[in-house]
Amino acid sequence: MGFDINYIIGHVDEELICPICTDVLETPVQSLHCEHAFCRVCIEKWMLLKKQCPVDRSELLPSHLAPASRLMRNMLGRLQIRCPFSENDCPLILSLDDYRAHVLICQFNPKAIVECKNCLMKVPKDELPDHNCIIELRKIVQDQATEIAVLKHSQGDHEIRFGYKIRDLEFLQYYLAALRSTSPFLRNVGNQL
Ligand SMILES: [Zn+2]
Ligand SMILES: [Zn+2]
Ligand SMILES: [Zn+2]
Ligand SMILES: [Zn+2]
Repeated sequence: MGFDINYIIGHVDEELICPICTDVLETPVQSLHCEHAFCRVCIEKWMLLKKQCPVDRSELLPSHLAPASRLMRNMLGRLQIRCPFSENDCPLILSLDDYRAHVLICQFNPKAIVECKNCLMKVPKDELPDHNCIIELRKIVQDQATEIAVLKHSQGDHEIRFGYKIRDLEFLQYYLAALRSTSPFLRNVGNQL
């Protein structure tokens, strides 16, 4: 999945666009045969379905792919991209390398994870106004109670199976003893066991 071309500042060369997602190349790889370049994630998904270059349909196998040329990586390295939350007033302009990390922590990201000051639970920022510490903590306690109940149940199952095994063993011992007492041959075998 590439970088949204709408947020890139200035002109983008066509060779820096992934033909699969039509955005700017992210972690680009290049075919050693036809030199077409794709986002690594995009072409890996594509090759699950087809072993063909999506541009010229020539044969394309995983072994044909290599990291993009230094020239291409340098060109990508010079691109600048606005934060996708610039609509929410984030003023930052970033290099492609810094983009993903920033989006996760951007304070203008409505889904950014923040900590509730009362219960210290981590919640998406946009859910904080509706966040109710008591309800959330009760949910956690209930989840844990369910987990404990499940564990107890499976422990019970093990004990029951163990009980069956012991009874089987006892039965075999009685059976063997009975056989031994009726057959001299088995008596000897039994002694060897
Ligand atoms: Zn792509
Ligand atoms: Zn190609
Ligand atoms: Zn931002
Ligand atoms: Zn809370």
